[in-house]
Amino acid sequence: MSEEVERWKEKYLQLAERQEQLEARWEQRVDLLRRSLVRSSLAVEGADPAVERCLHEMREILRDGDLDEGLSQLVPRLEKAVLESERHRQERAVRLTEALHRLVSQLLGMSVPAELRKPLKRFAKELDQRAARLRELPVLLGELSDLQGQVLDLQGLAAPQQSGFLKRLFGGRDMPLAPPAAERGEETPPSAAVNEVDAGPVVVEALGLPKPAVQAAPLLEDVPLAEAPADEEAIAETEAEQNAAAYALPDSPEPAFSVVADRVEATLGSMLDSLHLPEQHQPQLQTLRARIQHGLNWYELVPVLDDLAMLMIAFSDQGQRDFENYLQTLNERLTAMQENLLAAHQGHNEGRDAAQALDAELREQVGGLQDSMRQAKDLTSLKQVVEARLDGLLTTVDTYRQQRSEQEQKLGERLQQLVSRVGSLEQAARGLRGHLEEQRQKALQDPLTGLPNRAAWNERLELEFARWQRYGGDLLLAVLDVDHFKRVNDGYGHLAGDRVLKIIGTELHKRLRKTDFIARFGGEEFVVLLPNTPYDAGLQLMESLRESIGSCPFHFKGERVAITLSAGLTAFSEGDSTERAFERADSALYRAKDSGRNRVEAA
Ligand code: GH3
Ligand code: MG
Ligand code: MG
Repeated sequence: MSEEVERWKEKYLQLAERQEQLEARWEQRVDLLRRSLVRSSLAVEGADPAVERCLHEMREILRDGDLDEGLSQLVPRLEKAVLESERHRQERAVRLTEALHRLVSQLLGMSVPAELRKPLKRFAKELDQRAARLRELPVLLGELSDLQGQVLDLQGLAAPQQSGFLKRLFGGRDMPLAPPAAERGEETPPSAAVNEVDAGPVVVEALGLPKPAVQAAPLLEDVPLAEAPADEEAIAETEAEQNAAAYALPDSPEPAFSVVADRVEATLGSMLDSLHLPEQHQPQLQTLRARIQHGLNWYELVPVLDDLAMLMIAFSDQGQRDFENYLQTLNERLTAMQENLLAAHQGHNEGRDAAQALDAELREQVGGLQDSMRQAKDLTSLKQVVEARLDGLLTTVDTYRQQRSEQEQKLGERLQQLVSRVGSLEQAARGLRGHLEEQRQKALQDPLTGLPNRAAWNERLELEFARWQRYGGDLLLAVLDVDHFKRVNDGYGHLAGDRVLKIIGTELHKRLRKTDFIARFGGEEFVVLLPNTPYDAGLQLMESLRESIGSCPFHFKGERVAITLSAGLTAFSEGDSTERAFERADSALYRAKDSGRNRVEAA
């Protein structure tokens, strides 16, 4: 009998030891969680002061003790701080929106025709909603720049003399340009001026001269994001007339000049003041400020707005990326934390099952012991003692089981709460990332032609360049510029100029392969990337693009308008950088201009 009691005692000690082991394992898990939380919080330090404060507190809680209580209070505050950080960004957008409103109302204050008043009003109406999304700001500035350009052109102004577009923003290379006819002291009414240009490519043929055969014209539907101005007479019966209508340039009035420069300067100035740009963009900001302070004239307004838009794109791109990176990091940390919690939660359930199984086993053995003792008739006193002990033992085990079960249930509930909170944080971060991506896509398209814009170009150029560095092969880069485009605006109005740009964009785009890339770099300048294209084939392609534009049958009030373009082409070669290749193509383009235009120069 005493042997049996010994066995039972042994079993009890084993149980106690097992219990200690379970508790030690649990402690280890809590310690692991604590460490992972401390590391996660250190990783996002510096992202935002309020978020950082929460994380600091989190570390305090982890150091000093009540993990469950402290964390379940802190996590909602951390969630709030992350959302608050996003709200601050939105407030900056509001300040910029106000400045944009002022600029639009100044434009509306000018005597602008109804066709421009409408888009301006629409712009103003949509401004609040669109500008609330930070990523929209560069796009808005670009659109405003276009509208402003149209208003200015309708005021009867000549277009600005622009320097080379690569360095325009920073006052880079100065292009030797022939002064406009008016500056040379010649009396040239707009429509006659184009006739006068000796070898100039914009030629309006006199009525009665034989017209060139009408080419397969781009259909109006081909022109992205834009509609041809309604001209009922131009709805032709024959195919030839329909084709001709596609190239008809709108006949827009050119109202008188009016002066609002002071107000525009003040608005632009206050807009720049409200921009909080990071250190590396300060030189651009100063250059812009100097250009505005030195006395803006009409000619410079459009490029200044363009440059401001570029600056915003550069800035908001970087800001958004920082924020995206921050969210990415936060998200990864939270995922790791959630996994730890889940693992701990599972382990905890296993632990409870094991304890219950042991409990059952223990009860069975005790039952057996009681049975055998009942059979020992002549050892009554011993039986009583042992039974009393067994009663005590069972009470202890019951109490243990109950306490343990309650404790585990409480811990399990708390863990479950933490897991679901972390899950909802993760979901919010995912939603935010999707939204950012949507805004990003919008910011990459040129609204006039529907082609990718300069920001999209920069991204693609980096990508193709990286691919070329890795896999080698041929990569060609070309810069294209419409010849004497200023004269199109001067002679036929800004709307006609816009229409020409849209058609050119469509023509060029449809002649390229899917793997090629074309973007509107700015103004009347386009850029093209040709991956896996041998140099000779690229040159041939550029020639065919040039010819196709030259033979587009543009016409204005029945008179043919010849539009041509010049281009510079270069191939990436060993040791190249994107900047160097671009400079080469840009120089080749200006050689093409110097040698008479309507040509492709290779570099
Ligand atoms: P070059 O042959 O040397 O390139 O002469 P250009 O007249 O084409 O070049 P310049 O840079 O002097 O003028 C380009 C003009 O293009 C000035 C600007 O007003 C006009 N422009 C820029 N963007 C747009 C636009 O979106 N629409 C219209 N209609 N005109 C624009
Ligand atoms: Mg140009
Ligand atoms: Mg040009």
